[in-house]
Amino acid sequence: MGNSVLKKFSAGVLIILLMLSGASCNFAEEEYKREIYALDTLITLKAYGDNAEYAVDCAAEEITRLEKLFSVTDPSSDISRVNASAGEFVQVSEETVALLSRAVEISALTEGTFDITVYPVVSLWGFTTGEYKVPDERELEAALANVDYKGIDFDGNRVRIKKGMALDLGGIAKGYISARITEILKENGVTSAVVNLGGNVQTLGKRFDGNNWQIGIKDPESSSNFAILSCRETAVITSGGYQRNFTENGVTYHHIIDPESGYPAESGIASVTVISADAVLADALSTAFYVSGVQRSQSIADELGVDYIILTYNDEVYFSAGMADKIELNDDSLTPVT
Ligand code: ADP
Ligand code: MG
Repeated sequence: MGNSVLKKFSAGVLIILLMLSGASCNFAEEEYKREIYALDTLITLKAYGDNAEYAVDCAAEEITRLEKLFSVTDPSSDISRVNASAGEFVQVSEETVALLSRAVEISALTEGTFDITVYPVVSLWGFTTGEYKVPDERELEAALANVDYKGIDFDGNRVRIKKGMALDLGGIAKGYISARITEILKENGVTSAVVNLGGNVQTLGKRFDGNNWQIGIKDPESSSNFAILSCRETAVITSGGYQRNFTENGVTYHHIIDPESGYPAESGIASVTVISADAVLADALSTAFYVSGVQRSQSIADELGVDYIILTYNDEVYFSAGMADKIELNDDSLTPVT
């Protein structure tokens, strides 16, 4: 106990020393950091360079704008309006149509393990309100009968879902938003930045000191990282049941639903990270892979040319060939598998 207090104390001193020494060098002076609570999560935007502050403030406005389009709880959002008028075409923005079409395309690529029409089932489990409960079997079956991404119709900028269906972009919107944020930072002259949307990371350029970014991949069972990824400009997006769950009668239920069964996915995967320049694809695939399991995910990833790091409940770490010289495992008990 005394020892750990001492450790914490020395770590604190070390951090302060680092801050002090950093304060006298240019890099630190040029950093601009802003934290925002939005999209039901903590968002951190860090940018470097002359125009960083202005660029980050523009990016923050973009988050607010996009949340208004995609939120499933704001009744005036594009998504809520489509959900409220199931059975009829609803006019939405061009961006919403583009993201919905992309979601449908990725559903087809993942054989429906990614499906934005799973929302009524997610709701029954209480993940939308925080009033968690194991759903009644009959209710679950009824909701499940309406889950099918093929039931979304497009007509120009109009979208229609079938009666009984509802959409939720929770598994893909953060990828889209982080891509837009990095675009805005770039347009405003920022060449080095890192954005973190509740564990969904996207980097721009190189780290301020010219080195690669070092991104920690969180251990689902502790507050430390099980792996460190060294990378340049990319999206690094992680899904895992540890991110949102509840326990009832000794059983833990999490928020990533297998659209086939209506139950939280049990594929043996504890955490899956998808690494790709395309943040939208990475976000949707990370959710899909968590449902699909290791083998199916590996073949989809190979086909689409994305990189991945998968940690299983057996402490095996599967990663794509492209990650071999970029990741470092922090724990000797993990078995790397390529
Ligand atoms: P997080 O939002 O925690 O970063 P994900 O990107 O994996 O994690 O998205 C999980 C969210 O996506 C859930 O909260 C739910 O809203 C929605 N969702 C759950 N299961 C699926 C699924 N099979 N396909 C698409 N979306 C899903
Ligand atoms: Mg996702």
